[in-house]
Amino acid sequence: MSAKIIDGKALSASIREQMKGEAERFENTYGRKVGLAVIKVGANPASEVYVRNKIKACEEVGVKSFSYNLPEETAEADIIDIIDTLNGDENVDGILVQLPLPKGVNEKRILARILPEKDADGFHAVNAGGLMLGLPCTKPCTPAGIIELIKSTGVSIAGKNAVVIGRSNIVGKPAAMLLLAENATVTICHSRTADLKAHTLNADILVAAVGIKEFVTGDMVKDGAVVVDVGMNRADGKLYGDVNYPEASEKASYITPVPGGVGPMTVTMLIKNTVESAFRCKGN
Ligand code: NAP
Repeated sequence: MSAKIIDGKALSASIREQMKGEAERFENTYGRKVGLAVIKVGANPASEVYVRNKIKACEEVGVKSFSYNLPEETAEADIIDIIDTLNGDENVDGILVQLPLPKGVNEKRILARILPEKDADGFHAVNAGGLMLGLPCTKPCTPAGIIELIKSTGVSIAGKNAVVIGRSNIVGKPAAMLLLAENATVTICHSRTADLKAHTLNADILVAAVGIKEFVTGDMVKDGAVVVDVGMNRADGKLYGDVNYPEASEKASYITPVPGGVGPMTVTMLIKNTVESAFRCKGN
């Protein structure tokens, strides 16, 4: 079998088009643009690229971005002050702090300071708890994008065996919770999982969020599985996924490429979260 490609770029473009319409509707109704504040501390090269992409996506959709490029040595108290100001700013609907933060800045305290209603990344404990309890909440962008990508195949998630490799707070765990909410039977695997292959071979839906280049080989993939590759691993000037694409695509029915799969969806879901927050704050 040669897998069909799940085109993250195309799906992302169509959701951005919808968001453009929604952002316009917000502006026409409330007399201002939807606003997203983006805080970057220090000069991490990968963060520079991510932040640039997020600001570009805002422009594309008609969301106003408020950019804060703070020097590496910025004190935690000063970042907190900025967040407090943005929490109270009526023109700001979403706040994003680009991770990782420099050493010495407590990431947990910073993320906890963002009002849950303005937490565009969905990392606040109130939103993580909401996801766990099945309450309305802002969902983390990458996992939300993963679900949209799977749904775009037309394959039903309900009743399927879904295996997530990785249990990070930003990808693995929330992806597993969202798959559970879609009525999949979910297994979460990690570095201490015994006989990983036995689990992955049982996966109708396989999500790889490991952070190791081409970790999932063809012999680990069940025939006909839907494979979502979250990995972004740079080597010899190229971007590689966590899945060995040539091998896995011989077994899978659908597969996301790297690049062009999960990556574009992450930024798009950030914009979607911000637009939805804006309407929610107005009681919609
Ligand atoms: P992370 O925090 O490093 O988590 C990696 C997970 O993989 C951990 O739970 C770890 O298990 C597990 N793992 C490591 N080695 C393993 C092994 N040999 N067998 C089974 N599990 C193993 O990474 P992350 O933040 O979740 O990101 C994962 C990947 O996704 C990275 O490549 C990252 O760059 C990429 N990513 C992409 C996007 C995007 O937009 N496309 C967004 C976020 C992340 P333990 O918990 O036991 O250590």
